[in-house]
Amino acid sequence: MNLKQIKYFIVTFILIGATPIFYFWTLYQTELNAIQSLRETEAKHQLNYSQNAINEISSELSTSLRLLSDSRALLQFIQSPSLKNRALLESLWALTATNYSYISQVRFIDTNGIEQSRVDDINGEIKVTPIYQLQDKSKRNYFLYAQTLKAEEVGTFGIDLEVENGKVVIPLQPTLRIFTPVEVADERKGYLVFNLDVYEIIEEIDYSIDSHYNLEFVDLEGYYLASKNKEKMLGNLIEERDSFNLLIENPNLWRAMEDRNIHNFKDKKHFYAFNKIALGNGFEGSELYLLLTSNIKVDSSGTDHKLAFILYETIMAIILLVILSVIISRYIVKHRTTSLESQLALAALNGMSSIVITDKNNRIIKVNDEFTRVSGWKESEVIGQCPSIFQSGVHSDAFYAEMWQTIQENQSWEGEVVNKRKDGTLITEILRIQAIMGINGKAQYFIASFVDITARKELENCLRELSEKDMLTQCWNRRKFEAEFSKLTNKQRLTPEVKMSCLAIIDIDYFKRINDQYGHDVGDKVIKNVARILQTESRSIDFVARIGGEEFAILLPNTSLKEAEVILNRLRVAIHLADGSQSVTVSGGVTDICDCGEATYKRADLALYESKTAGRNQISCFPSSEMDQIA
Ligand code: GH3
Ligand code: MG
Ligand code: MG
Repeated sequence: MNLKQIKYFIVTFILIGATPIFYFWTLYQTELNAIQSLRETEAKHQLNYSQNAINEISSELSTSLRLLSDSRALLQFIQSPSLKNRALLESLWALTATNYSYISQVRFIDTNGIEQSRVDDINGEIKVTPIYQLQDKSKRNYFLYAQTLKAEEVGTFGIDLEVENGKVVIPLQPTLRIFTPVEVADERKGYLVFNLDVYEIIEEIDYSIDSHYNLEFVDLEGYYLASKNKEKMLGNLIEERDSFNLLIENPNLWRAMEDRNIHNFKDKKHFYAFNKIALGNGFEGSELYLLLTSNIKVDSSGTDHKLAFILYETIMAIILLVILSVIISRYIVKHRTTSLESQLALAALNGMSSIVITDKNNRIIKVNDEFTRVSGWKESEVIGQCPSIFQSGVHSDAFYAEMWQTIQENQSWEGEVVNKRKDGTLITEILRIQAIMGINGKAQYFIASFVDITARKELENCLRELSEKDMLTQCWNRRKFEAEFSKLTNKQRLTPEVKMSCLAIIDIDYFKRINDQYGHDVGDKVIKNVARILQTESRSIDFVARIGGEEFAILLPNTSLKEAEVILNRLRVAIHLADGSQSVTVSGGVTDICDCGEATYKRADLALYESKTAGRNQISCFPSSEMDQIA
């Protein structure tokens, strides 16, 4: 992918992807909100449930406590603490402790603070404390508190650590104690105490098995009385933990909790539902917060299938959109390129060149307007035809064969061609033929483009004629003669064995007299006449030039001196016999051309001189062999 394709891809993706992605995003958000509000509702329900559960537990417990405090077994034990009565009491208590998993201890403490009877439930195992292990609890705060209770009152001293024989029990065991005075005939005999395992209570009241929720007890100072995270519990009692306080950890939440009218709070990560409760009716000093924390962050991969499905759908949609965008952007780039290419092709077709396009069988399939303008052929007249219809006949078959050979080898050919127009006139073209190759390596199309150079060619010819021809006689001029003459001498030098060529110089006899007698114009006419006879009577291969005022030179290629003499005499006679008021004769000198131009010319001139001196109207020969002899 190049930069342009990437640009188109991004634009396409944004254009076609924006709406579906926005749709999925909205769907996702809606579902997320639904899940969160469900969580919130669930959290509130959980809180309600827990609160009800606590109320139930405390009312059950106070009922049990009251029933046990009034039980016959306890009264009998107080009146007569015999072993039998003790055993009876202990078995009743064991039954109670087993019944309520969160009761970890049932005790009777006398008015002096001494434990009189005690049953422990350690993780479902009942342990009866032997008499000698019963302890003095008169110094414990809760005992002091218990003494303040009125008859039949049930009270609690909040959550505290379990202390045995003056030492905190390890592992730490947060305990809630509830008490009621035991009186016989209005005389206070002691206190019945339940120790409640706070962990067990939390387990009992937390119905949620979902890890999203976390139920905690928080006291009115912000310390955790109970939490699944046991490390942060009871900061009010354990010094190292005093930083685990809601007031410090989450002051905003704490502010909301202190407001009696607010029962939930939300921050970025969590939803909190809370309520201030009292542990049971009429339990004094037992107020605390029940705090339920719920994670807002929804785990889309695992827990929520609908959300995961939306995510899956979104990913699939994005993949589809990416594929679609790639296809569309590639199509656009390609389309733009081809449309650009076709625009360029159209521009090229409508350019200055004439264009003929043929198929692989060289049948015309398209021509442009310029072709029609230049050649006169309309497209409809040439479609399906072979371009050979344009042939002028100027070029040989070999020329065309060579042209096609070159096209086959190089896929193109360039050169000057003379064709004919529809009206039959000739047209000179600079032609380029380009083969368009197919994937099979064979030419599928041929594009012939040409520029009409007929006018230029004519001008060129005209200028050349002007520079090479004599204006008066239309014979070749002296310059052209010298060029041609030197070609022949060169040829003689390079290939002396080839057939002889000759040079003749012809001069009009007594021309001055004609000029003098009839005037210069007549003199010109005589010159023209002589030139015409020389041109028409000489052979087509002969080269006639006017090299001076009334002096001509004739080059006779591939001609022996003898043949040349015959031709020259024929010309001389033709001039002599030509009609005209003036009797015009010419004298001539002829020689064979050797490799030295100067010497050749000299011999011809000497031969002419000989004709003049010998009486004129005659031709003299001066073969090069004689010159050699003289030399
Ligand atoms: P000869 O037989 O010895 O050749 O005698 P001639 O009178 O022809 O002598 P010559 O060849 O020397 O004379 C050339 C004359 O031709 C001289 C010049 O006045 C005349 N002449 C040269 N060019 C032209 C021309 O273009 N037009 C005319 N009318 N006369 C020309
Ligand atoms: Mg002369
Ligand atoms: Mg003369």
